[in-house]
Amino acid sequence: MDISDLLISQREVKGKILIVDDQIINIKILRQLLHDDYDIHMAKDGHQALEMCSSVKPDLVLLDIEMPTLNGFEVCRELKNNPKTTDIAVIFITGHFDEEKEVQGFQLGAVDFIHKPINPIITKARVKNQFMLKRQNDLLLKFALYDGLTGIANRRHFEQRFSENWRLCAREQKPISLIMLDIDQFKQYNDHYGHQQGDDCLLKVAKALSDTVNRPFDLVARYGGEEFICILPNTTFIGAQHIAQKIIANVQAINIQHEYSNVAKHVTISAGVATTIPEQEHLHDLLIELADKQLYIAKKQGRNQVAAFEVTNISID
Ligand SMILES: [Mg+2]
Repeated sequence: MDISDLLISQREVKGKILIVDDQIINIKILRQLLHDDYDIHMAKDGHQALEMCSSVKPDLVLLDIEMPTLNGFEVCRELKNNPKTTDIAVIFITGHFDEEKEVQGFQLGAVDFIHKPINPIITKARVKNQFMLKRQNDLLLKFALYDGLTGIANRRHFEQRFSENWRLCAREQKPISLIMLDIDQFKQYNDHYGHQQGDDCLLKVAKALSDTVNRPFDLVARYGGEEFICILPNTTFIGAQHIAQKIIANVQAINIQHEYSNVAKHVTISAGVATTIPEQEHLHDLLIELADKQLYIAKKQGRNQVAAFEVTNISID
């Protein structure tokens, strides 16, 4: 995914709005007002609203405050406490102006209030403003977490995900593996073919990597320059080596000509694998160092190959 593709896709996709109200008539009024510009979903109580926020993932929720069983404030609190729904923007719909309630709503994380009876112009404007803010936030987040050239995760994204995965695997006592990768003789490639073609090579290799490492919880990131890293949570030593071999084969298969490499006549990649069952939370950096060391060994042994190491217990010594 390229940044310009991202911008285009952001512009083309219709925003999703979930309207929540226990009075069908109120839902109808809002739907009528907004359905030309947005993809509208509806829920008639708080429980249904929470379910739909998880399944539909709306950008924005128009949330009635006064509802039986689960009221709007309770729904908002649940949404904000769940990492999967915390980014959804909430606008409260309320029957009467009550300053104390509005303060409470903003403190719960709402972005705005709309008062009933609905004024069409004010409502449309408020929804549009919040929607644009949400889109800009999403875009900023994407710029912050993805590499501008290759479109895969960047190093910051890797670091976030790695510590999350490390904690999860530590709790469940499952193995976690890293594959550190480096394009062989990339300096020679750049020197002879130029940086433009060098970028093109990085893009193709990144694509080969993300096509190979594609289970839902795996992550492929650009670690720096021509270096990449894969996180394979819940993956054994044998499994990780198998994936590393596959990566090497798939990079060879795209067959990017490299006349100036002393490994082969095409671009190749070396891989260092490290696996452990995490014991202590703060030691995850050591696994990166170990993978890096294995990469160094793979390079020393002639490149275009995997070197791997399994640690049974990472500890400081
Ligand atoms: Mg109501």
